[in-house]
Amino acid sequence: MTIAMTFDRGRRKIYHARLMYARPFIDSLDFARNGQQLSGEVPVVELPRLLDELENLSGILRYVVRGGVDKQGIPWIEISVDGHCQLRCQRCMNSLDFPLQLDTRLLLRDQAGLDELDDNGAGGDEEEFDSILADPHLNVLDLLEEEILLSLPIASKHELGACQVADSENAAEEKSPFAVLAKLKRS
Ligand SMILES: [Zn+2]
Repeated sequence: MTIAMTFDRGRRKIYHARLMYARPFIDSLDFARNGQQLSGEVPVVELPRLLDELENLSGILRYVVRGGVDKQGIPWIEISVDGHCQLRCQRCMNSLDFPLQLDTRLLLRDQAGLDELDDNGAGGDEEEFDSILADPHLNVLDLLEEEILLSLPIASKHELGACQVADSENAAEEKSPFAVLAKLKRS
């Protein structure tokens, strides 16, 4: 539910920043069956659906997409992303450097295959890997964006000591009569 909402919110913004930037497309089944590989770099600003989750869109992410077929004959693509992005600390609302390291495998299925998974209900949770629709014109950056969104922590905060608000909270606590009392009791 939350995820679907994130995507819907993102969709409205998707059209702003997508000019003049080469966006790779792959025929996902063909890519997997031929064991192909694609790698590149993408500025975070080219992934505008991340905007709501990030404090700012600075940074560059490196990615590798690989294709293959598993022992059961199911084609897959694997995505690796690494780099840094700037989350928003939920305590002080300032920027929080987040090292992004993402490795995931997605199984490619046709619509009938996906429907079958759906019909099995809870079966989806037992599966080791998520499945996506095999797309002859797969927008690689859209897929990366989606996987990155799913991987971001929900309520990130600075470590105590690194967070400005937390520091002032700590300072206030030390001066409060209760804190003084507690110290007296301890000694
Ligand atoms: Zn903070």
